[in-house]
Amino acid sequence: MIKKDIKNFSFGKTQYFLKKNKFQSFRAKQITNWLRKKNVSSFEEMKNLPKKLIDFLKNNFFISNIEIKDFQKSEIDDTVKFLFQLSDNQEIEGVLIPSKNNRITACISTQVACILSCKFCATGQLKFQRNLFFHEIYEQVFILNEKAKEIFGKHLSNIVIMGMGEPLLNYENTMEAIDLMMSEKEGLGISHQRITLSTVGISDGIKQLADDNFKCNLAISLHTANEIKRKHITNSKDNLDEIKDSIEYFYEKTKKRITYEYILFDKFNDSLEDAKKLANFCKISPCKINLIEYNPTNNDIFSKSTEKNTKKFMDFLSDKNLIVNLRKSKGQDILASCGQLANSKK
Ligand code: SAH
Repeated sequence: MIKKDIKNFSFGKTQYFLKKNKFQSFRAKQITNWLRKKNVSSFEEMKNLPKKLIDFLKNNFFISNIEIKDFQKSEIDDTVKFLFQLSDNQEIEGVLIPSKNNRITACISTQVACILSCKFCATGQLKFQRNLFFHEIYEQVFILNEKAKEIFGKHLSNIVIMGMGEPLLNYENTMEAIDLMMSEKEGLGISHQRITLSTVGISDGIKQLADDNFKCNLAISLHTANEIKRKHITNSKDNLDEIKDSIEYFYEKTKKRITYEYILFDKFNDSLEDAKKLANFCKISPCKINLIEYNPTNNDIFSKSTEKNTKKFMDFLSDKNLIVNLRKSKGQDILASCGQLANSKK
């Protein structure tokens, strides 16, 4: 018989399986506790289970574990990047980002590589392999939380789903993982206000989030409000009108302010004309704009905007009463941008 990964079983499914096999169903809570709250790697470690149940589990299941294959710590800003190995030897990345206000943010992945192939993104240069299972998305947070304690002496304060992959193209696993991150009972008890999901702008997915009453923060990697330019940098199939529609729908249902991410590229999207288009796009609903400094990747067609143009762009938006933040790129010395570490290992 082929053994199944027990981490793939939700609490309810574990309960059902135990019952079906004449074990007490309250054991499901103990088992999922060992897996989600302690991240044990063997059934023998589940100390409060009877031997008979441990033997039964061993005969039917295995426990997949994510291993840390490599890590690098930035000399500049203490950002730590991890290369994780999954049980099928695929590799993904996770990052710990400490910031001045005493916060530690974990950036996690949702897919092994990405099908969007955004031209500026290192992940886009890797070949798409597969979606992550919900427990693999969750386990990254678990491990990064442990590492945050070990390295910085404190727990994670924030989670950003901004690593490899497009979360809205792996919708169900991402949502199930977020539920676990937030659950006091089963998972880590992290508040929804501290979790941000970032998407290239998959309109069906954004509408689905609205229907599912999504409580966390939503960020959209817009990078340009010009259709032709957008087609040039990403092969995401939704056009700007469709994205606009979905944002309207999202706001109507949730009344939540969204964030636009906008990497400023020199002579590509950093002119006042571009800023005007962006300001126009931002009229859809209450929002915030994060201007992002480009972190150069290997095969470079882009370079980062000059300080002068960045300032002009930012001032233009502020004058329109938009909320704008400038995000300096972190971990530049350790290839901390999405996909860069996994890429360098190929
Ligand atoms: N697919 C999702 C999440 C992954 S990308 C999305 O598109 O949002 C997460 C963020 O990192 C995006 O805003 C992306 O544009 C940004 N990013 C990717 N490569 C970058 C680079 N080289 N420099 C700066 N930001 C980058």
